[in-house]
Amino acid sequence: MSAIATGAPLVRARNVHKSFDHLEVLKGIDLDVAPGEVVVILGPSGSGKSTFLRCINHLEAIDRGSIEVDGEQIGYRFRKGRLERLSNHAITLQRRKIGMVFQQFNLYPHMTVLQNIIEAPVGIHGESRAKAIENARVLLERVGLSAKADNYPRQLSGGQQQRVAIARALAIKPTLMLFDEPTSALDPELVGEVLATMRDLAKQGLTMIVVTHEIGFAREAADRVVFMDGGKVVEQGKPDDVLGNPQHPRTRSFLSRFI
Ligand code: ADP
Ligand code: MG
Repeated sequence: MSAIATGAPLVRARNVHKSFDHLEVLKGIDLDVAPGEVVVILGPSGSGKSTFLRCINHLEAIDRGSIEVDGEQIGYRFRKGRLERLSNHAITLQRRKIGMVFQQFNLYPHMTVLQNIIEAPVGIHGESRAKAIENARVLLERVGLSAKADNYPRQLSGGQQQRVAIARALAIKPTLMLFDEPTSALDPELVGEVLATMRDLAKQGLTMIVVTHEIGFAREAADRVVFMDGGKVVEQGKPDDVLGNPQHPRTRSFLSRFI
């Protein structure tokens, strides 16, 4: 049964460890995310935020612990009492539940906006072209870019490109969306339109984990703020509490930069 039906967490990370050679980047992350919840992860550069998101999406394999999404262990399964890696096909199916938006939008430059959006549903997941196009048009409407369907990425502003990247991630109908500093590469005047799109998605009940330095977005849109430092979650709670009255010295010193 899906997590949405049972009320269980949609994401359940336990004691997640990840090293690159001798560098231990994640040192035991525990995090639950409820269906429909918007969690903002804050933390200094190098604290492991991107690595954690990449582990949830199985772009990186974890060394120890577990990550479940919608009740399924990501990348692995238990068989005969042992943990074994899933087939690439099974991992593709799991990834279908997870959309990810990166700092660099990474749109295919030689494809139109519409082609970018239907690429994964048609090319990877075998959806019919007609259905994918219909859905893409709905998504373009949702991100306010219906008029740009036949344009190429280079003809769009950075903010518009990132909104297309959001529509592209939504095209696989994910139950979970991961955002890794989606506005960090944008000119300041373009940040607002992308955050507004994300706020809309949050209001519509999408489960989101958002890594960002946009404290205003965290305050308004997050159900919970998680502060990471040195590969650990050092503090978490309601935005007003964590942002307004941080308990941990590392959180305080991090937030003092934004005042
Ligand atoms: P954040 O997103 O919080 O800035 P990252 O997860 O990107 O942090 O990185 C955490 C640490 O892991 C950094 O020291 C970074 O250099 C290192 N790191 C990240 N990815 C790799 C990789 N593929 N190989 C080696 N080191 C990496
Ligand atoms: Mg990062």
